[in-house]
Amino acid sequence: MNTFHHTAIPQKQAQSAALKATALRRIVEHKTQEPHVAEQYDLALRKIYDELYELNVTKNTYRIVYHVADKYVTPPESGELFKAISDVSITMIHPDDKAHFLEFFDLDAVRDSFRAGRECLIGEFRKLWQDGGYHWSTLTLFPAGLSAHDEIYLVFIMDIGEKKKVEELTQRNHLLEQQRLADERYRIIIDQTGTLVFEWSRDSDARFISPEIPRRFAGEYDGRDLMHIWQDDAVIHPMDEPLLTQFLINTRKACSYTEMTIRLRTHSGQHIWCKVALTCIKDEQGQPKRYIGTLNDVDQATRSILALKYRAEYDTLTGLYNMQTFYAKAAQRINEHPGHHYSIVRMDIDRFKVINDLYGIGEGDKLLCAIARLIQEHASPHDVYGRISGDIFCICTNDSRAEIIRTIHIIVEKLAEYPLAYRIMPSFGICTVDNSDTPVNVLCDWANLALKTIKGSYLTTYAFYDDKLRQRILDEKKIESEMHAALSNGEFVMYLQPKVHIPTSRIIGTEALVRWNHPTQGLIPPDVFIPLFEKNGFIIQLDEYIWEQACILLRTWIDSGRTPVPLSVNVSRMHIHDLHFCDKLLKLVTRYAIPPYLLKLELTESAFLENEAGLLAAMNTLHAHDFLFSMDDFGSGYSSLNMLKSLPIDTIKIDRLFLSEVVTTERGKTIIRHIIAMAHQMNIRIIAEGVETMEQALFLLESGCCLAQGYFYSRPVPVDSFEKMAYEAGTP
Ligand code: C2E
Ligand code: CA
Ligand code: CA
Repeated sequence: MNTFHHTAIPQKQAQSAALKATALRRIVEHKTQEPHVAEQYDLALRKIYDELYELNVTKNTYRIVYHVADKYVTPPESGELFKAISDVSITMIHPDDKAHFLEFFDLDAVRDSFRAGRECLIGEFRKLWQDGGYHWSTLTLFPAGLSAHDEIYLVFIMDIGEKKKVEELTQRNHLLEQQRLADERYRIIIDQTGTLVFEWSRDSDARFISPEIPRRFAGEYDGRDLMHIWQDDAVIHPMDEPLLTQFLINTRKACSYTEMTIRLRTHSGQHIWCKVALTCIKDEQGQPKRYIGTLNDVDQATRSILALKYRAEYDTLTGLYNMQTFYAKAAQRINEHPGHHYSIVRMDIDRFKVINDLYGIGEGDKLLCAIARLIQEHASPHDVYGRISGDIFCICTNDSRAEIIRTIHIIVEKLAEYPLAYRIMPSFGICTVDNSDTPVNVLCDWANLALKTIKGSYLTTYAFYDDKLRQRILDEKKIESEMHAALSNGEFVMYLQPKVHIPTSRIIGTEALVRWNHPTQGLIPPDVFIPLFEKNGFIIQLDEYIWEQACILLRTWIDSGRTPVPLSVNVSRMHIHDLHFCDKLLKLVTRYAIPPYLLKLELTESAFLENEAGLLAAMNTLHAHDFLFSMDDFGSGYSSLNMLKSLPIDTIKIDRLFLSEVVTTERGKTIIRHIIAMAHQMNIRIIAEGVETMEQALFLLESGCCLAQGYFYSRPVPVDSFEKMAYEAGTP
């Protein structure tokens, strides 16, 4: 063993050791020569040292040169050296110092030290005294003769109990002072931060709990573990119990720091948010030894954070998820269960605005809350639902189609019972999730597309976003991507259908009807694209284009000296909302110098119901400039003849479906006769469209309507064909 365990000697001590070493050398040197001098030294030594041993390593013997009486327990006066070292280490040295003692006498290390120039080696051990106690002593090992024949050491032993006591006391005082300062710092921190402290350690039963803890919080603080008091005495809020359980697991796993924010019950029964943190102090083996915990009241801060979080995630009116959260939670649900078939159900209340208007916002809000409760009650347990906006609710469910329909029926029935003198009619659009990568907002939009197909319908309450609808939407997308180029490429062409005077079969007018001459799909009828253009607003541009084509045509007829045939153009309802509607038409007729009465304006009946005031103003302006109006599709909507009185209408055009359906019954015939008679009375011209047969034409004539448009006379045809009909076959 080569390592040194000999006490490291501070400088001062080393100096005195050197002096002693010199003195000793003199004793040994003079001992045999001058006995009286040796005696003096001997006396002096006995005053300093309690015992002196001579160790002869070569012979493996030792002897006690002297020792003070009645102090130490000593080995026999002389004997076998190594056995004595071993015996002493066991019987006369404090067990804690035994290892150190044996190392002190490790000869290899001793020799190395002296070879390295050390004069003596000093160790400190607790030695057994005759009073039965152990007391601190120094052992000084000094080489007395180191030759090949004789390896002799002297060991001087000195009682340093007093010195050690003073040292220990100083040390302890120092520690106590340190502790006092640390405690003071700790107290200041605790006072300033309002932190409450608790502590327990593995090895002792001593537990510390800030007295403020039992003062504030419920529970019987009877010496049990704090955490157990909170658990067993229901101090912790039931919803936070899992947090505490996890906290205890973490603590046991000996995480050095764990924290949790939980609600604790105060004596008044109210729960307040607290942050509890625990620091674990470990022993040398890394085992938890001591736990120091802190508790802070974080009630206000937590409540405001929670309130903010709530606002951000929930709809404050109904308590359901808001749009963002619904999207996020639904996406999470869909992604986490790839095997399930999910659907998005979108619910919308028909004319909810009317409820707000009629009964006030308060009633509207109450209804929305009732709907939220209904959804909560009837949705399946794992469904995710939320209020997306206004009166729109969405559910993400993995119910089957049949189950979804059943739930819808329940909700519809319950809403029909809602105590409001207004029939509450929800519509539902359903979109199945075929690809989990499709964002939830897109799925909701698709559900909405399905919903729109039935909105306002009294008979159908739900619609699925299916392949047909998907195809329609794809077709619409394609049309929308092509329409602008089609307009500038001249793919939209104007067809003309003659209007005829029944008794003479003479052409008295014509209607411009648009077709899309598509480069790959051929001639597309307007029913395919007009409704879409009305939705996306492109109809405004298209109509203006057709109006211009009509003006150009009228101009060529006038310029070529022919009597121009009055040309009717269709005016989409969208123009009613266009502030420049009148200006545009006026500019157009001015530009081509067309008398406005030649460009007749056909407006569908239902358009009159929408924006009456605005429309009336526009019509009056245009009427003042000699424009004439036809009410198109008369009989398809709900307008009364009475309404016509207030409008500058020149012609009524009986809807073709109205004609074909009504004319089959006697009652229908009577209605048509009445309409015709009343129109005459009001000085409004009347024309029937969709006349397909001679019978229909004759019936109209008999009833007093002598103008007709329909396949019986001609289909809509290209301009040149119309011109042949109008100008070559006979005189218009
Ligand atoms: P509309 O204004 O009521 O036009 C009359 C429609 O009835 C035309 O269909 C015409 O071809 C069809 N029709 C005429 N006679 C008969 C008949 O005897 N039997 C049957 N079954 N149908 C007949 P078309 O050309 O397909 O136009 C459909 C609708 O598209 C038009 O209905 C009109 O609302 C709209 N539309 C057409 N062109 C334009 C346009 O340039 N602008 C606007 N805004 N709408 C247009
Ligand atoms: Ca028309
Ligand atoms: Ca019509």
